[in-house]
Amino acid sequence: MKTFFQREEDIVRCNRCGFCEEVCPTFRATGEEFSLARGRNRLMRKCMEKEFDLFKEPEINHHIYSCLLCGACEVACPSSVITTTLVRAARAEITKQKGNPFPVRMGLHGVLGNQRTLSLGSKAIRFYQRSGARWLARHSGFLGLLGSLGKAEGILPDIPAKTLRDRLPSVLKKPQRTRHKVAYFAGCFMNNFFPDVAEATLRNLQHNDIEVVVPKSACCGVPHEAYGEVEMQKKLAKQNLDFFSKHQVEAIITDCASCAHGLHSYAELLEDDPKYGPIAAKFSKMVKDPSQYLVEVGFKKEMGPVNARVSYHDPCHAVRGIKVSAEPREILKSIPGLKFVEMNEANWCCGGAGSYNVTHYDLSQKILARKMGNFKATGAELLATSCPACLMQLGHGLDVHKIDAKAIHVMQLLDMAYQNKGARSKVG
Ligand code: SF4
Ligand code: SF4
Repeated sequence: MKTFFQREEDIVRCNRCGFCEEVCPTFRATGEEFSLARGRNRLMRKCMEKEFDLFKEPEINHHIYSCLLCGACEVACPSSVITTTLVRAARAEITKQKGNPFPVRMGLHGVLGNQRTLSLGSKAIRFYQRSGARWLARHSGFLGLLGSLGKAEGILPDIPAKTLRDRLPSVLKKPQRTRHKVAYFAGCFMNNFFPDVAEATLRNLQHNDIEVVVPKSACCGVPHEAYGEVEMQKKLAKQNLDFFSKHQVEAIITDCASCAHGLHSYAELLEDDPKYGPIAAKFSKMVKDPSQYLVEVGFKKEMGPVNARVSYHDPCHAVRGIKVSAEPREILKSIPGLKFVEMNEANWCCGGAGSYNVTHYDLSQKILARKMGNFKATGAELLATSCPACLMQLGHGLDVHKIDAKAIHVMQLLDMAYQNKGARSKVG
């Protein structure tokens, strides 16, 4: 992989045409030139040409870190400027030179780098949410002292008592008429925050005669990628490749669009590694979103009704990352009773972008407000999506904007439809 300073030929392709203006959420929210792909590319080019110092100018760092990495500019760009790759490369260079601040390092290495610590951390949040500490923090003004972190406190969902791994039997049963075999990637958010969604995905696969194994896994590495922690990202990628290569399967399924993007990127991440490069290339091709996989292999259409008006939000990592957008809609439209309403700008970033809604809370809320306005106009009561990070951000948006609707994963709606036709309610 090329480093930031080896990417001059990529950055000179930006001819400042401004086609990215219409689609860049940070530019639309701020109106600032340097919050636009064109402006960011200009700053990065000046750093490459050594006119500005990438490591010393806080204003430049501000614009590099305020990019959502949503990729909308790349789709609109007639010169195929790879802005997200350039921004990631700049962040990796800054991290290599200066390191990340201590809380970020602790989060990335100590918590997300270790599944046991992550589960303990989730349990501590659950204690905070249920012991009265949350009430006290909210009513005493303590959250106000925490700045962005305090403002973002309401984004976290209620943490369930048991993780997905605590709930699952050690071995999942084979369906009676097994057609396919897949491995499920239990990402950090799905395992700790949304085990109900993960169980719905597993049931949907099993109901469609697909045998599922759930190998041990590490974090997919997407948060590390976003903060330029490339060595840690590679370490996690290798761990996952070791865990998953023990299983002979047709596909790797993840119901987290961010994990799907992360796992998919292993091929490029490890392309120079003689041992892991070929394994990663094969692995990345097998990574699928569950809607994508079910549409590909064919899914059962016998379902009970789900009488609701539903709209769909495209996660950036799904629509522009792994290029999945038609399949979740196909699944939703196949559910009897469900009235699908397309919203305006369905593929615009919701402003969640991993931890962006914590580090850039106010800007993230401005971007979210646009999404909420578009959703409200549909009159739908359910806002479906395919990523846990979006689920959290959208759920928060519905609360803040007092919209009487619920954020839900596409797999939960499919599971509901199957159960309304008598499918089993437990993972086998
Ligand atoms: S659309 Fe592409 S070439 Fe045009 S200004 Fe934006 S990044 Fe540059
Ligand atoms: S990735 Fe998204 S936020 Fe970043 S410059 Fe491109 S459109 Fe703007």
